[in-house]
Amino acid sequence: MAVLLLNASFEPLHVIPLRRAMGLVVAGKVDVIANGDGEIHSATRSFPVPAVLRLRYMVRVPFRQHVALSRRAVLIRDQKRCQFTHCDRTASTIDHVVPRSRGGEHVWTNVVAACAPCNARKGSRSLADLGWSLKKRPIAPRGTVVLLSSAGVQTVPDAWIDWLPAPA
Ligand SMILES: [Zn+2]
Repeated sequence: MAVLLLNASFEPLHVIPLRRAMGLVVAGKVDVIANGDGEIHSATRSFPVPAVLRLRYMVRVPFRQHVALSRRAVLIRDQKRCQFTHCDRTASTIDHVVPRSRGGEHVWTNVVAACAPCNARKGSRSLADLGWSLKKRPIAPRGTVVLLSSAGVQTVPDAWIDWLPAPA
């Protein structure tokens, strides 16, 4: 289970494991902003499982501008929806818009989330060959996507939503 850690300014800082989150709670370094489901029991006390914590002091962190291009990160950016306009299926693969066999690069602006059937049909053809188009232009992700994908979070808990900036 993962916990969203906010800076004293309420900006999201990190996604941390529950064990580390409980360490911060017990040490009095954070306030619990929102609880998740369930309880944790120690020898003497029980606590609600925290979902969002806020540091009591400000930390300065270099803003992480870039996230490595990976299948997981592309699926998060594209919210697991197949990006071809004719298709409403859930995506499980990534597709190169300009096929690699035609010189397309493996970069954020040339990859989109795709369902397996669309990916197989597209093969090494271009969008123009097929008469297909994209729901949106692929861009390099920022902010929330970087935070979530670097922590491996694919499904955002409801308790976090108020504290995350809107996806870019
Ligand atoms: Zn599709």
